[in-house]
Amino acid sequence: MKTIKVSVVTPDGPVYESDVEMVSTKAKSGELGILPGHIPMVAPLAIGTVRLKKEGSTEYVAVTGGFLEVRPDKVTVLAQAAERGEDIDVTRAEAAKERAERRLQAKEADIDMQRAELALQRAINRLKVTGRI
Ligand code: ATP
Repeated sequence: MKTIKVSVVTPDGPVYESDVEMVSTKAKSGELGILPGHIPMVAPLAIGTVRLKKEGSTEYVAVTGGFLEVRPDKVTVLAQAAERGEDIDVTRAEAAKERAERRLQAKEADIDMQRAELALQRAINRLKVTGRI
């Protein structure tokens, strides 16, 4: 099976590095599936999950957006924050989800709705990666 190198990198350092058969991710323009030999490209990412298919199983990394760079033999995901499922603190993500939901419901003038909406999306994405929702 042909493989492609993948790195998920954040300002705090690398989060994931491996050779995989396929990378799937959520670009701002929609879902992208990348196989070895893909044409070079750069795409902005949405808050979402990077799925890495390898030897019959799939690994998941939550990313908060960023950029995807594809070269024929290498995919790099540059994200502000990224976590593998086992590194996600579920209690923290649940608390972040509840906090964001409260802020969105309150609709008070001094609440930045877009910021709360993005915090909610990050929390939901983390909970999805851990299989909690
Ligand atoms: P919170 O409100 O809980 O801080 P957040 O969505 O605002 O969540 P980010 O700004 O996206 O957090 O991330 C800040 C740092 O904390 C990053 O290094 C990120 O990987 C880490 N992080 C955030 N939430 C979690 C979590 N539930 N489990 C593990 N690491 C997390």
